[in-house]
Amino acid sequence: MLLSHCRLPDGRADMHVLVREGRVAAILDAPPEIPAGGPAVIDCGGALLLPALTDFHVHLDKSLFGLPWMPHAAGPDRMSRIETDARILPTLPVGPRATALLQRCIAQGSVYFRSHVDITPAFGLRNLEAVLALREAEAGRCHIQTVAFPQAGVMRAPGTLALLEEALRMGADLLGGLDPCEVDRDPRGQLDALFALAGRYGVGLDIHLHEAGELGLFSLAEICARTRAAGMQGKVWVSHGFALGAAPEARLQRAAAEMAECGVGLVSHGAGGAALPPLLRLAEAGVAVLLGNDNMRDTWGPYGTGDMLERAAIIGWRLDARTDAAIAALLRMATEDAPRALGIEPPAVAPGAVASFVLLPAETPAEAVAQHPPRRLVVYRGRVVAGGA
Ligand SMILES: [Zn+2]
Repeated sequence: MLLSHCRLPDGRADMHVLVREGRVAAILDAPPEIPAGGPAVIDCGGALLLPALTDFHVHLDKSLFGLPWMPHAAGPDRMSRIETDARILPTLPVGPRATALLQRCIAQGSVYFRSHVDITPAFGLRNLEAVLALREAEAGRCHIQTVAFPQAGVMRAPGTLALLEEALRMGADLLGGLDPCEVDRDPRGQLDALFALAGRYGVGLDIHLHEAGELGLFSLAEICARTRAAGMQGKVWVSHGFALGAAPEARLQRAAAEMAECGVGLVSHGAGGAALPPLLRLAEAGVAVLLGNDNMRDTWGPYGTGDMLERAAIIGWRLDARTDAAIAALLRMATEDAPRALGIEPPAVAPGAVASFVLLPAETPAEAVAQHPPRRLVVYRGRVVAGGA
């Protein structure tokens, strides 16, 4: 495939990217002669070619996409949302909803995903079965990593630990966790159990940590300490970490240094109604920071479109990140940094690199984020998976 007349992230215009066997074979400043029966030529019309996007925190099994609009049914707190999941979702098959969300994400340029999947006594393992089936069916169009996620808690929901272990045996890639103090009211119980299980199966952890203030910083420190003790540096992430958003300066610096030293990363979706951690400062302090959409049109909230560029723009707006350099740093958290954190080779618009791209009408990466115009083409490992330029 030849992607002709495209603009590159480094600013070069009217370039031609030759793709062969899923990789960038060459980047040329003049269009090559294409023999009859040669590669398909896609005229990019001067649009910007970016590495494809990663959504590092998604809940494919909670989606309500593909159904008629459902008004938000949960009360204002987290426990009410957990109860609403258990009340509404078991009656709705996972496959069609997850597929509908995934197609929207791919159409907007995301082809790498970390999906949390509810593992609870109410759901058993059926959500995971559906998401693993979807992963297999879509393996030629995207890469999905799964997290066995104890949405109803671990210690407060007897039977969950055994289900989590079964989920790892079935092929879940990571183990999840959730607010060890607020949900389980047993931080030592939850974290010791999760780290022991993760260690036994040699998998990483990605723990939802909504807890605010000193409580959240306490849980974070407990996670860091266990990560270091278990030698799991680089394999543990905290999603949200709201406590980092309102911490006094000295506490923030201490927590950032601890996360960087223990190899605990942070995943953020810029939640409304919660203090946003200073993501750019944390990244500068050496913390691995990744971005995700989290809940999209599901039982947890009506917002979200599947667009990671829109998500990066929302986060940039909340951080007051105005310079091109700051916006580009945010984009890296959803492009080149993220597949590496998934343990796979990241795509790039560079010779030899994996050819997963998104094409859109913008002049620079910063404009692509700030304006997030419609996507024209999405390519996964050399194959067009959405759009037609
Ligand atoms: Zn989540």
